[in-house]
Amino acid sequence: MKLISAYSLNQEDWLHLLMTSGSTKHLLPFWLDGLYKDRTIWERHVSPKLLEDLQQKMNFSLPRISSVQESQDGTVKFLIQFEDSLEVETVLIPFHKRFTVCLSSQVGCGMNCSFCYTGTQGLKRNLTSGEIVGQYLVARNWLKNKNSKVLNPSIVFMGQGEPLHNLTELKKAISILSDPQILGIGPKQMTLSTVGYLPGLKTFETLPNLNLALSLHSPFDEERKVLIPINERWPLPDVMKELDRITEGSKRIITYEYLLIKDFNMSDEHVEGLYKLLGNRPAILNLIPFNPFPGSNWERPEMSLIDAFKEKLVTKKLRVMIRTTKGSDILAACGQLKVNNLARNHEKH
Ligand code: SF4
Repeated sequence: MKLISAYSLNQEDWLHLLMTSGSTKHLLPFWLDGLYKDRTIWERHVSPKLLEDLQQKMNFSLPRISSVQESQDGTVKFLIQFEDSLEVETVLIPFHKRFTVCLSSQVGCGMNCSFCYTGTQGLKRNLTSGEIVGQYLVARNWLKNKNSKVLNPSIVFMGQGEPLHNLTELKKAISILSDPQILGIGPKQMTLSTVGYLPGLKTFETLPNLNLALSLHSPFDEERKVLIPINERWPLPDVMKELDRITEGSKRIITYEYLLIKDFNMSDEHVEGLYKLLGNRPAILNLIPFNPFPGSNWERPEMSLIDAFKEKLVTKKLRVMIRTTKGSDILAACGQLKVNNLARNHEKH
């Protein structure tokens, strides 16, 4: 029988479970500290009978690390295996003396974006909230074992999968990750990245106030379809309308991710198109040089082309950043995550 993961329960669930197991609400803080910080706390505060009962009902183990690869730039890629043996990749990225962890929300992905290695894998299944939280804990424990001074990485939901396509479990995971009595990651330390999955965007406000990023990659609808097939069903103008609704009356700024692909989306027409699209919107444009993966049809532009494109956008007074590629030597950079034999063989070396 498959047991439910202890890491899939939020504070409310635990309170209910403890009360219905004959305990009182006063146990809750000790219980949560024991689960997330130090199990020895349970020895002092939890009766052996209650512990045994709960251990029979639930799975208290974290997902298993199948392998770890460390990049020369400090990026760490974990291959993480769940109960049913399916695996995802989770990436820990160093950034200005801190870390960000890139979490997966699905095994594979059904969105089939042409620039993304995960998309070639298809969707296997959604991750549960416990599996999403589990990835975070695996990465945090890894830092702890390395005696890192920084233990609470920020989170980007940019790993395998379209997070808004798994909204129920994602929402539950966020409620656990952000709970001050559990892991206490502030919503502003979390960023959700979507390719424009409109049904999910329409309910975005049901999530805490986390940062939002849209994979844009082209200001032109027809061209965007080539990169992001779901643009056919949910065209860019509809997505932008939804983002306008989300930002209206708030100080929220949306990050627009823009892959730089040589000879494809870096012309003067693109500069003009981006200006028309984002010039009057609260926007940061994040330029990401394409990270090639085995079998991809696209090419990464030279640095001189990247700088020139950025300069033209800056002249238009757009807020622009270039994202430094991390972990490309271990296929851990943006758009390069895919669990397959190739990846696994590579990891053995
Ligand atoms: S870019 Fe994101 S949404 Fe598109 S295939 Fe890759 S993981 Fe899925």
